Amino acid sequence: MLTKLYIDGKWTEAVDGRTFEVLDPSTEEVLADVADAGPQDGLHALDAACAAQAAWGRTAPRERSEILRRAFELVISRTEHFATLITAEMGKPLAESRAEVAYGAEFLRWFAEEAPRISGRFTTAPDGRNRLMTVKRPVGPCLFVTPWNFPLAMATRKIAPAIAAGCTMVLKPAELTPLTALLFAEVLTEAGLPDGVLNVITTADPGAVTGPLLADPRLRKLSFTGSTAVGKKLIAAAADQVLRVSMELGGNAPFLVFEDADIDAAADGAVLAKLRNGGEACVAANRFLVHADVAEEFTAKLAARMQTYPLGPLIDGRTRAKVSALVDDAVDAGAQVVIGGKAPEGKGFFYDATVLVDVPLTAKLLSEEIFGPVAPIITFTDEQEAVWLANATEYGLVCFAYTRDLNRGLRLAESLETGMLGLNTGIVSNPAAPFGGVKHSGIGREGGAEGIEEYLETTYVAVSDPFGGM
Ligand code: NAD
Repeated sequence: MLTKLYIDGKWTEAVDGRTFEVLDPSTEEVLADVADAGPQDGLHALDAACAAQAAWGRTAPRERSEILRRAFELVISRTEHFATLITAEMGKPLAESRAEVAYGAEFLRWFAEEAPRISGRFTTAPDGRNRLMTVKRPVGPCLFVTPWNFPLAMATRKIAPAIAAGCTMVLKPAELTPLTALLFAEVLTEAGLPDGVLNVITTADPGAVTGPLLADPRLRKLSFTGSTAVGKKLIAAAADQVLRVSMELGGNAPFLVFEDADIDAAADGAVLAKLRNGGEACVAANRFLVHADVAEEFTAKLAARMQTYPLGPLIDGRTRAKVSALVDDAVDAGAQVVIGGKAPEGKGFFYDATVLVDVPLTAKLLSEEIFGPVAPIITFTDEQEAVWLANATEYGLVCFAYTRDLNRGLRLAESLETGMLGLNTGIVSNPAAPFGGVKHSGIGREGGAEGIEEYLETTYVAVSDPFGGM
């Protein structure tokens, strides 16, 4: 198991020799002691990224593409190794870890295909005289801060477009799940990534390490995935050096079921939207808004499916205590428990799949991210009310809606305040699509054709009229 810092192509201890423990959330046992970087280690990593930037930015797009393509093949060929490690440090069932490996690897293939397609434009100015040219350049050294819920995919979603664009980077993975990122660094080296292009620093004190990097004028870009609270702090810290920022933050996804929906399909989609990753996903359905005429049928079908879905533990005791407190708060306010509502006995941070009905609008779990296997159901009586309820949140990452009415689907796409809409589907994530949110859910998009733009600057060149005009 790799447990050291990865700086300039070398595996090193933290300068002061400190380490921190990584636990297996299924057993609460220590999995590994990992190097605990301090501010000096972080700056060494930035030194390496800055030293590598000029040469890396000039490599042929095809060369960057082929490194990504090789990395894709390597990750896929090591699916079991990655999946076992993800399950060990993050807790999700092995089948879900394998799915994360496939999803995470797909960003490598997608951006391998994007690297040779970076292009500028050349046009004639409207007055017919000057020529207008744009040139795309890598934005420069980047800092990536990633969460624990998808230890591989949240890293590849940033690293792959940065490599494709010709940026160098420092990755700081979550302290709860640093092992997968270290394994991925080894794969990229094997795929031929030059030293210094990717540096990985693990730390138990993220603020102390990222602070000096954000203050350093050599850093040009910050991309963060994590909670809105930490994202806001990092946006403020990034202001000083006027950094380009990409922010993938929290969500409070509404899942709308209209009276004309296929209720079986809605329940199938709902269980995925709710329980994939144990509910610990930014795109997890957080509130079920169901038309009153179909609420009873939908609730029964969702509860039946949730009861048989294989669940892993939550990431840690703190997360489980938060989920449990949110459920208790709703029940105290009058919600009825249909299934679950408690943690099972025994080791591991497990929490039972839970469905709540008659949830009052004031219950905290309707405004906060639950991040656990809990489905609160509330009812509405018309489309306008459904849209109003869906938009009554500061978040705007994803919405899900089930309806057979095409025009209604299109109206929803234009009236829901969201970065993404799952129409008759419970899963939106796709490396070929622009993933991201509006309002407090973030800034920028990852994946799709949009994903690489986050790592490119545009230089505009005004060219004089080749026919001699002014
Ligand atoms: P978190 O904000 O606690 O941590 C995320 C990362 O930030 C970790 O690497 C952590 O070490 C680091 N961090 C924490 N405090 C920091 C500080 N003061 N300075 C610098 N770095 C700091 O979030 P989490 O609990 O790891 O992840 C869950 C959150 O991530 C949820 O809110 C979820 O919605 C969000 N998320 C969003 C997306 C998305 O694409 N929108 C995807 C996955 C997760």
